Amino acid sequence: MTRLDSAIRRLTAQRELLDWATGEIDDTGLVLEVGLGNGRTYDHLRDRLPGRRIYVFERTPAAHPACTPPDEFLVVGDICDTLPDFAQRFGSRSAALIHVDIGTGNEDLNRLLALRLSPLIETLLQPGGLLLADRALVMPNCTDVSSQTGVSKGRYFVYRRE
Ligand code: SAM
Repeated sequence: MTRLDSAIRRLTAQRELLDWATGEIDDTGLVLEVGLGNGRTYDHLRDRLPGRRIYVFERTPAAHPACTPPDEFLVVGDICDTLPDFAQRFGSRSAALIHVDIGTGNEDLNRLLALRLSPLIETLLQPGGLLLADRALVMPNCTDVSSQTGVSKGRYFVYRRE
């Protein structure tokens, strides 16, 4: 498989999952996009969930202005700092859907961040809420439903809060 094939497969899986999840979630609850990057998946989410409140977390926002959320929905800073503040502000169990896409090329760093992130994310999910992540997280109060989504094993990780 070429790197182009691999990139296409990853993006296709991402789009399929976002489409699946937007059809699954409750009508109420916040949507959180963790990692704005180029704003591609944020743009997709806002298209699929018109009128929904989508908060976006990013350390260094640099997306094209057309794919950058309004200031009130952009949470700038390291998620290890901003997610706890956000949970204080909106309360735990306030999110219907969380999409985490913060991968770096450094696997050690990725693992460390996943461990720190897991409890922060799990706290924010409402019962029945979905987490889609580019890495496995440790979610003791969630069920791993990745295999129910049709996406190849290990490509993306999907959890539903009990
Ligand atoms: N989903 C995006 C898209 O479709 O364009 C791509 C996201 S990109 C792979 C990952 C983003 O996560 C980067 O913009 C990076 O700055 C951000 N990020 C990584 N670690 C972070 C952290 N600890 N706090 C906040 N943002 C972080």
